Amino acid sequence: NDPDPPPAKRFKPGPPFPRVEPKNAMLLPGATASRRQLPIYQTREALIRHLRRLHSAVLIGETGSGKTTQLPQYLYEDGIGRQGVIGITQPRRVAAVSLAARVAQEKNAQLGKLVGYTVRFDDVSSPETKLKFLTDGMLLRESLGDPLLLRYTVVILDEAHERSIHTDTLLGVVKSAQRRRTEMNKIPLKVIVMSATMDVDLFSEYFNKCPVLYLEGRHHPIQIYNSKQPQSDYLQAALVSIFQIHQEAPASHAVLVFLTGQEEIEALARTCRDISKHLPQNCPGMCVVPLYAALPHTHQLRVFQPAPKVHAAFGSRKVVLSTNIAETSITISGIKYVIDTGMVKAKRYNPESGLEVLALQRISKAQAQQRCGRAGREESGFCYRLYTEDEFDGFMSMTVPEIQRCNLSSVLLQLLALGVSDVLSFDFISKPSPESLRAAVDQLSVLGAVDRKDERVMLTALGKKMAAFPLDPAFAKQRILKLTALTPAPSRYSQTLLISPGFSCSEEILTLVSLLSVDSVLFNPPSLRDEVATVRKKFVSSEGDHVTLLNIYRAFRKAGGNKDWCRENFVNSRNMGLVSEMNLKLESSLAEPVNVRRCLAQGLFTNAAELQPDGSYLTLDSRQKVSIHPSSVLFQCKPACVVYTSLTQTSRCFIRDLTLIDRDWLSSEALPESFRLRLHLSRS
Ligand code: ADP
Ligand code: MG
Repeated sequence: NDPDPPPAKRFKPGPPFPRVEPKNAMLLPGATASRRQLPIYQTREALIRHLRRLHSAVLIGETGSGKTTQLPQYLYEDGIGRQGVIGITQPRRVAAVSLAARVAQEKNAQLGKLVGYTVRFDDVSSPETKLKFLTDGMLLRESLGDPLLLRYTVVILDEAHERSIHTDTLLGVVKSAQRRRTEMNKIPLKVIVMSATMDVDLFSEYFNKCPVLYLEGRHHPIQIYNSKQPQSDYLQAALVSIFQIHQEAPASHAVLVFLTGQEEIEALARTCRDISKHLPQNCPGMCVVPLYAALPHTHQLRVFQPAPKVHAAFGSRKVVLSTNIAETSITISGIKYVIDTGMVKAKRYNPESGLEVLALQRISKAQAQQRCGRAGREESGFCYRLYTEDEFDGFMSMTVPEIQRCNLSSVLLQLLALGVSDVLSFDFISKPSPESLRAAVDQLSVLGAVDRKDERVMLTALGKKMAAFPLDPAFAKQRILKLTALTPAPSRYSQTLLISPGFSCSEEILTLVSLLSVDSVLFNPPSLRDEVATVRKKFVSSEGDHVTLLNIYRAFRKAGGNKDWCRENFVNSRNMGLVSEMNLKLESSLAEPVNVRRCLAQGLFTNAAELQPDGSYLTLDSRQKVSIHPSSVLFQCKPACVVYTSLTQTSRCFIRDLTLIDRDWLSSEALPESFRLRLHLSRS
């Protein structure tokens, strides 16, 4: 047996992992978890007996116990909900696709037949599909055309503990559909809320105190180590820990590192690969596997495969570098070590400034516990926390639901379009603050999407268009409808799209909206920065990132979507392919780039920033200090005025995806007077 490795000097043992000791049978390490070996299998009969009779239920169970992959199959196999579709929602697109693929494989079915999925840009389902995985945003979108969700007999809201804004909104929509279906004597709707954490009282209360079914999980002891000292550079600390483990532990022990996003994961992956090439002869090989949402699906599947034996004598170790996807939605086998940086990238919203930023922040205690738990699924494990015990004590106990920390305008727009008459008092499971509700209504009325009469908020004709998105008939395909509703800030993009005919650039704007909505179409490995810059040069436009993106897209079309072309030009062929599949041809240059820029300026006017004498940038609307992200083609040029598509907060507040604009375009009569007034004041 493998001796326990000595804990690294920089760590000291932390508090015991707060869990019950392992019970019942052990899963042999390395054994494939076949359907019958999963913990949920032992409870199958009881589970089905309860679920057959219940209208609503909450199901909790450890990550990896088989909830997501097994429960839908049990229901189907036992004839529950067979008259319609069993829908399973996931907060993440990656998870929806990967879980559907897994279930189809287990059922020996072709993906898209009995088992399918529907996510943004990608619908692999058919009329035969009975088990359908979707993102929660997608089901919300479907509810616009079918508020009673009549197509579904069962809706499983998975990963509810994550409290994504769409899951929270869906809870309300599903609850109301369920009640109305009963009132109208239609086929009842069964609702199952699933969570990997124990704090589910709220869900049970919300569904009229419905029963909570508890799956006893399999868990093994986990030794936690905390940093002795606070770490100023968590990436460096992670790197050191990875190699410490790598040199001490047997190669079969895989390591899972929690990081915050694609860029740092790719950078760290590169560094690890470089270092591992120069280790002593007797050290195992290292197989570094990144996992993040924008990764092409085939690459994602690598996390499920064992490390290839590159090193005959000493084997090879799998080191997975993941975002919080691996916390609960995707289970990776063979993990013995978890390294937790304690950081996450999450949305944060300030209703006063109206700004929504993606910021690096501390995780919650609940998340820390989930991360830790990934180490003890198959046998005992170790968790290295790159933060001190004192720091941990300062973490919030729970993650604040997304609905309480993001811009609500698109949710309100959807609810209004759903016919919810009183959006301000909608039955949210956790109420957003009155300020952020008010800010969202303000924003919608600035965009002309709603009218306020007394206390009532009503959708205007324009708002209806924005929510439903009637594009040129040539684009009014289902796929497009799905796409547009799910873009990061639908109301803002729709605004830009709706005015684009006036600038004769609808096709360009629609293409841009798609390009910006799929998970990144460009690869930017930091370690190949110079190479990337060289090949991109031919596409770069001094007018900004949007025009540059259009140039790349045109070249992609011209190359016929060729995979080699994509590889040479660091383009993600899958994501780019998704965009072009939507019939977005854009063969020739139809519109003048200046028209595209004017249109973007007018559509994204709330996202304008201006150069200051000291070289910094201030947003025009809320006077917030921002910097141009180094990935922008305008990074070196210091343009006087730009509009941006997104805002990210790391060490600073960065604006990304920029277009150079003329400040005078913003004084256009077409923009709301309140905004022009503010603009005027900021100038004087
Ligand atoms: P839960 O939803 O309770 O967290 P899941 O149903 O997602 O559990 O997972 C059950 C098991 O299926 C896990 O052991 C996981 O490793 C395995 N699994 C899921 N997807 C795949 C896949 N694509 N390849 C291999 N194993 C998988
Ligand atoms: Mg699951």
